Amino acid sequence: MRRLVRSALFTAAAVAAASGPVLGQTAATLEQALPEATQALAARESVEAREFMVAAAHPLAVEVGHDILARGGSAADAAVAVQAMLTLVEPQSSGLGGGGFLLYWNAATESLTTFDARERAPAAADEGYWLDAEGEPLSFWDAVVGGRSVGVPGTPKLLEVLHARHGRLPWADLIDPAIAQAEEGFEVSPRLAGAIADAQERGLDTFDATRDYFFDAEGAPLAEGTLLRNPDLARTLRLYADQGAAPFYEGAIARDIVAAVRTDTNPGILELEDLASYEVIERAPVCVEYRAHEVCGMGPPSSGALTVGQILGMLEGFDLREIGPGAEAAHLLLEAGRLAFADRALYMADADFVSMPEGLLDRDYLRDRAALIDPETSMGQAEAGDPPWEDAHLRAPDSERPRRGTTHFVIVDRYGDMVSATTTIESGFGSRVMTGGFLLNNELTDFSFRPEADGQPIANRVEGGKRPRSSMSPTVVLRDGRPAVLVGSPGGAAIIGYTAAAIIAILDWQMDPQAAIDRPNMVTLNGPSIIEDTAEGAELAEALAAMGHEVSLRDLNSGLHVIVVAEDRLISAADIRREGAVRGQ
Ligand code: GLU
Repeated sequence: MRRLVRSALFTAAAVAAASGPVLGQTAATLEQALPEATQALAARESVEAREFMVAAAHPLAVEVGHDILARGGSAADAAVAVQAMLTLVEPQSSGLGGGGFLLYWNAATESLTTFDARERAPAAADEGYWLDAEGEPLSFWDAVVGGRSVGVPGTPKLLEVLHARHGRLPWADLIDPAIAQAEEGFEVSPRLAGAIADAQERGLDTFDATRDYFFDAEGAPLAEGTLLRNPDLARTLRLYADQGAAPFYEGAIARDIVAAVRTDTNPGILELEDLASYEVIERAPVCVEYRAHEVCGMGPPSSGALTVGQILGMLEGFDLREIGPGAEAAHLLLEAGRLAFADRALYMADADFVSMPEGLLDRDYLRDRAALIDPETSMGQAEAGDPPWEDAHLRAPDSERPRRGTTHFVIVDRYGDMVSATTTIESGFGSRVMTGGFLLNNELTDFSFRPEADGQPIANRVEGGKRPRSSMSPTVVLRDGRPAVLVGSPGGAAIIGYTAAAIIAILDWQMDPQAAIDRPNMVTLNGPSIIEDTAEGAELAEALAAMGHEVSLRDLNSGLHVIVVAEDRLISAADIRREGAVRGQ
């Protein structure tokens, strides 16, 4: 039996070890980069509706989404309104200064598409971007804080493109509620207050605009319940309502962004041209068959659909329904996870820059990979596979850090259109650089800091104009070609584990969505098995340790939001670990 430990320090080391070779990161910096702490666990039940539904990470965002849907708005309309509101009320997680991935189901054409609004590196960035004068990688937080970590934001254009394609209500009507709320103010929630206090020691008070907004006159972090107004954001949103995304990419806001990233320390090199040339890319979803369903998600530059797909593809050969939820299934999930993460580290990155094989979801390949799983004993650390395509071995493995600044929302409208979207500014509060009342992302720290290892290039190294690899896994599960489940979560690389586990609970065990996401989280990044520190989690951990897993019990703060589309109703759930809500009619 391996040791079972419950301590922050061990956990940091565990995560470091989980990443394989830790490239330029110490255990301490990794611990700082772990997902945020869960504030409270309140019992919840799934919510049912007949016509439309929205679930998101803040009640005010859910309310505005619900209002738009009730007025006959489409899922696209509601997504615009929800994201505009989240920029204000959940500023640490996503917003107009960030990016994201959005899956859209168009009921009229019965088709699923994905929008890649991932932030992009400046054209002038090169593989030495995150190396210091000695050629050593910067420490994670030294890289995060300041304009250098800021990639070209994708979210403003994403919402515009989405509305142009699928909107029904006037654009300005979707932004107005957030403008009004920014002017009136909103109450700082317990989670936001905790996040501000927590981020103080990680540079949140470095820059004037950010400090003035998140701290009081004495320099203390804003307390829960404070009424927070954001007139700068109201002005930005008014421009957005009047002129769409253009000001962000070639107008006044673009100039402000370019100026704002030129911070004294860790300055950025974004140019107006980088913003002007940014495009949201529509890409085909990446799907894998699982239990007579198709599980579809976001392909590169996200590793989400490929890695979730590999896990499910490997588990297809195990009778999880018969095995049932419990330690045996947890063992199989984690073993499949370590095999998938080994491939992810070696091969996955922005496919517009590195050759990315279809072979990673090849059935035969996954069957061979699954054969490496011993149903009784953990394999420890997995090696990457050898999928059948040339060029596979020209890469060295990358490292991984779980993060905290992301949000997931799911929407179904009365016309049958649907959205499953994960949006982000990367770490909680992104780069800490604020302009126009919104925070700029630090997405460029999602690149590998080292360009190569052992003389081989790392697929996810920095390159000019490239999009950093993501773990975000907005998912739509199709049954008979139509959506059956919308799901996704924040949580850095752990997103992949959260999403795969939720899909298994819903499809294999037919669990009600709330029960499915209430189960203890578990994830491995191809090292220790990290299990959520709850009574049930601790029991699982004991059993896994007996199967040879090196186990770490810790807080695992997912933010899963789910809608199950049943024949005659919609059933939705919001994660008890965050402050989200669900509303429908
Ligand atoms: N930036 C991360 C990614 O794209 C997400 C961060 C988080 O989920 O907290 O994978």
